[in-house]
Amino acid sequence: MKANPLSAAAFEKAKGIFPGGVNSPARACLSVGADPFFVRRGHGSKVEDLDGHTYIDYVCGFGPMVLGHGHPDVLKAMSETMADGLTFGVPTEIESQLGAFIVSALPAVDRLRLVSSGTEATMAALRLARGATGRNCIVKFEGCYHGHADLLLVKAGSGAMTLGTPDSAGVPAAIAKTTLVAPFNDLPALEALFAANGDDIAAVIFEPVVGNMGVVPPDQAWLDGMFAVTKAHGALVICDEVMTGFRLAWGGVQNSLGFKPDITCLGKIIGGGMPMAAYGASSALMAHIAPEGAVYQAGTNSGNPVCVAAGLATLKLLSEPGTYERLEALGARLGAGIQAALAASGMAGTVQRVGSMMTLFFVDKAGAPVRCLDDIPATAPAKFGAFFRGMRERGVMLPPSQYEAWFISLAHSDADIDATIAAATAVLAEMARAK
Ligand SMILES: *Cc1c(COP(=O)(O)O)cnc(C)c1O
Repeated sequence: MKANPLSAAAFEKAKGIFPGGVNSPARACLSVGADPFFVRRGHGSKVEDLDGHTYIDYVCGFGPMVLGHGHPDVLKAMSETMADGLTFGVPTEIESQLGAFIVSALPAVDRLRLVSSGTEATMAALRLARGATGRNCIVKFEGCYHGHADLLLVKAGSGAMTLGTPDSAGVPAAIAKTTLVAPFNDLPALEALFAANGDDIAAVIFEPVVGNMGVVPPDQAWLDGMFAVTKAHGALVICDEVMTGFRLAWGGVQNSLGFKPDITCLGKIIGGGMPMAAYGASSALMAHIAPEGAVYQAGTNSGNPVCVAAGLATLKLLSEPGTYERLEALGARLGAGIQAALAASGMAGTVQRVGSMMTLFFVDKAGAPVRCLDDIPATAPAKFGAFFRGMRERGVMLPPSQYEAWFISLAHSDADIDATIAAATAVLAEMARAK
């Protein structure tokens, strides 16, 4: 293993300060059997740790850094805005500039609210759905992550028909009960939930391409059926594009697949690396939000001008011609290379990719598709852990879990991708020999 004495010392110190030594649990790297390294700086497609090792970065801040680290236009926009003050609690014009830009990108969004995290966006979207419909229950899908609000930290019990059980200590059962869960890509299970609880379901919330169980795209027939059954029961569709928005297509997956949700949640990229997110809907639905309506939602730092400047600069760069084609080309190159590395090694696995999001799943049978959480075998995380450690040793930083997407940025070069493929070829061959 690479010697990381400075990171090791920093981690020991941090453990006495933060639970697990981190400010968000995935960063502790527990599921891959490694200690995290501490980052000193990032530049373009690379990050450097405290001990001076450099890594090609596929974490990209868990999604936001689609331009790579330290893009000069973003830094310039931020410092110019910063020079006039950091936060006011009074409206600024730049908020409307960003808002109008987002509205112009999303046909389903007439008006929106800026908030400070994806969790806030989904929480507010659900409150809006409940307030507008006067209903209590929501439906989510197993393996989809929508932030850490009580309502959303629920996964399936033993079957799709069972009512939710809390996924976290501290979530009251009474709240968990209002969250119904179905497997992703399983229309009969969703139809059964509606048949049993249809009159009390306010909304269905989903990731249009799941990133939070690894990359799992939706089946078109499931998507069509999900919209149909939800509408038929008078419930709202909430499309959580916190990860996919402005990453997989200009606007989001709703544009590339051509559907119109009732409420859209955005985050990650729209903050350009700063804490910012948003939720939006038709003008009529948004009229339920205070002070126009009775659904309350607020935030001291909502629409913070420095965050808005970072987001606006990022979206402007992304709106230039060719950006999504470039992200797709980089993704295709990486996907094909990892696929070839798998085949050469004889290790079983499957590569699932949409644009610049990708996951290598260690399934039991080569090429077996992952369509829902249950398709990922219990043996996969340990294999992914070995792969992760081997890649890190060779200078590639992957997200530290089998259940995460790898993110590619516009700062990644073909040479970065090829170096990643070479590393994966070596690591997979090593894993095959160790079997
Ligand atoms: C990251 C994420 C969230 C939560 O966003 P935070 O800013 O971490 O609160 C919600 N939904 C999806 C799909 C996400 O990927």
